[in-house]
Amino acid sequence: MSHPPQNSPYTLEPATLNWLDDNPGSSDYGDIYFSCKDGLEETDYVFLQHNHLVERFKALHGQAPGSFTIAETGFGTGLNFLAACNLWQQHAPKDWQLHFISVEKHPLTKSDLQRALKRWPQLQALTHLLIGNYPELTPGLHRVHLMGTSIHLSLWLGDAIEGFQQCLDTSHKQHVARAGAKVDAWFLDGFTPARNPEMWTEALFSVMAQLSKPGTSFATFTAAGDVRRGLQKLGFEVKKAPGFGTKREMIYGLYAPLTENSTQAAATQNPTKSTRRKGMQAPWSVPPHIERPEHVMVIGGGLAGTSSARALANRGVAVTLVERHPRLAQEASGNAQGMLYTKLSPQDGLLNQFTLSSFLYAQRHYKDLQQEGLLSGSQIDLCGLLQLACSDKEQKLLEQLKTAFEGHDSWVQFLSAEQASACAGVESQYPGYHLPQSGWIAPAALCETLCQHPLITTVTHTEALRLHKTDTHWQLQHQVGSFEADAVIIANSHDAKQFEQTAALPLKVIRGQITALDADLFAQQPKTVICHEGYLTPAIDNTLRFGATFDNGDNDKAIRTHDHRRNLDSLHRSLPGLFKGSVDDLMQSQPEGRANLRCTSPDYMPLVGPVHQHDAFLKDFGPLSKDASRDIPQAGQYIEGLYVNIGHGARGLTSTPICAELLASLLCHEPRPLPQNLVQALTPARFLIRDIIRGKIAV
Ligand code: SAM
Repeated sequence: MSHPPQNSPYTLEPATLNWLDDNPGSSDYGDIYFSCKDGLEETDYVFLQHNHLVERFKALHGQAPGSFTIAETGFGTGLNFLAACNLWQQHAPKDWQLHFISVEKHPLTKSDLQRALKRWPQLQALTHLLIGNYPELTPGLHRVHLMGTSIHLSLWLGDAIEGFQQCLDTSHKQHVARAGAKVDAWFLDGFTPARNPEMWTEALFSVMAQLSKPGTSFATFTAAGDVRRGLQKLGFEVKKAPGFGTKREMIYGLYAPLTENSTQAAATQNPTKSTRRKGMQAPWSVPPHIERPEHVMVIGGGLAGTSSARALANRGVAVTLVERHPRLAQEASGNAQGMLYTKLSPQDGLLNQFTLSSFLYAQRHYKDLQQEGLLSGSQIDLCGLLQLACSDKEQKLLEQLKTAFEGHDSWVQFLSAEQASACAGVESQYPGYHLPQSGWIAPAALCETLCQHPLITTVTHTEALRLHKTDTHWQLQHQVGSFEADAVIIANSHDAKQFEQTAALPLKVIRGQITALDADLFAQQPKTVICHEGYLTPAIDNTLRFGATFDNGDNDKAIRTHDHRRNLDSLHRSLPGLFKGSVDDLMQSQPEGRANLRCTSPDYMPLVGPVHQHDAFLKDFGPLSKDASRDIPQAGQYIEGLYVNIGHGARGLTSTPICAELLASLLCHEPRPLPQNLVQALTPARFLIRDIIRGKIAV
């Protein structure tokens, strides 16, 4: 990453290192990343031993599956992370998940990471996994899975305090107990307090306290008086031990708040900088607490349903997936080739943050599936995606994007018309940007693959009709009987409106038709996915597929000749070099295609999360219609155990992987893969709250 531009929301200053042999030091902070004597021994002594991790990992055997969370201040080279993973693999039960949350303001580049970590042969396999999955260096939260393990890294690139605040809804002190997963052990590893004071402030200790529970441990290499006193003040019991190497002392201990209100006190000391829009401060989105389910029912066998099922099964939760068609992915997820699309924007904002986070996560996710052999060569091709800028307006935007994303060449490259033509294998008169790690995937094959898991039972030919909550279970009635489970995820797109509990969700339908023709009928063959007004995927089985139409509110699924012409006209306008003959000639060749309905929402973000109790929301948050900034003590009331994952529009391949992970984290009490502001922006109740505030609904 070179010379990031100023004033871009995508700017991060990578670490500036000085090396003593292969020992990294920070030029910015004038300190070293770990002991020159032996960094790994130091990690083991200070962080692993003084958090008693071996004993605690061993004690998890025999317990029902769950997760253990370590949080760290300062990811640096990832050495502490890898050492903790190594210990986890040796001692923890295989059906438990390790979550490691870390924050880093100045991330190392991949090549620096490689150099810093190569001296630990005992960590080689894990190092290889970390480097292979190291996220793109964009600000915000990145969820990384070490492929083939039960280890999940949540790496916040940015300032530590904001990062930890975004891990939980820390803005409502009275609901902090409900606000999300808590940390089991802390590694406090900023640079030495004298050189890096912002990593040892009361504000940081205060967020730590909010993220801790009685018995949460911490350890740090320093014994500085301010650190000791700061931690004690926030409810941590502090002990001293001999320091490592040349250090005289270190400290460690437990969170042991004296009163049950200590956590609230911590929250009071740290008034959270609100990232919400005006009027969105009331605690409506604090997630409900439910028992970790043993069995979940998922309604809908498209991308949203199957990815949700898999994320839960990966955590040991049994899933029954109910699909009305004879096979999976027969509706909006049913095209032969789907593209891994994102729309970049130079501006910040919730939609843009979600669009980028979900895309970067999806890229890693599909690469993993491919490397694990779960998707074969005919089902996925990460051949890149070229977005052309075909109008003056788009070319102006392209210039802004070029500035905003300068230095991010590993995943976005800006190309002249000539370069774009060479990249795509199709003559283009337009410049554009290329996403080299993107491409296309066969959605139906993906859905089938995701459901191939011993804990997932797929029930096809079964139409979910009604949902009913008994005292202990959810009951789903279908044509000939019923199923029961502890929780339900509704993932059947706009048909979610058929259920009484979700009938009021504001879903929109957009018809889309794609067109398919023999590839031989064209003069050139695309090597990458090409997006213009529409899109075009590289040919498979000698068939070139392109589209798609967008017709708001049209719910007809019949194929229309007129729409094939629209698709051909649009392709001809953007890529005339592709054509041997005229659009009329190609229309004579009997194009084939497929039409279906996408489901989207008024703000174009999916709806992912718990389903609210409509009437209780009206009652509790009705006062916001008179004063949007009014302080409402009551947290949002939700229908226990009922969740949705819908509204992914035309971008389901991009948005469903992270949304499935989010739902699994909410149901299994794990740290979330998205920051709190995006979790809230996806929560389905947002529309009702907006309607209340705008006076659009009688309260
Ligand atoms: N744990 C690391 C390892 O295993 O290599 C070493 C961490 S190093 C001692 C401290 C790290 O804290 C540096 O990488 C530094 O960039 C980061 N840091 C310093 N101030 C920060 C801040 N305000 N927010 C986030 N990270 C910060």
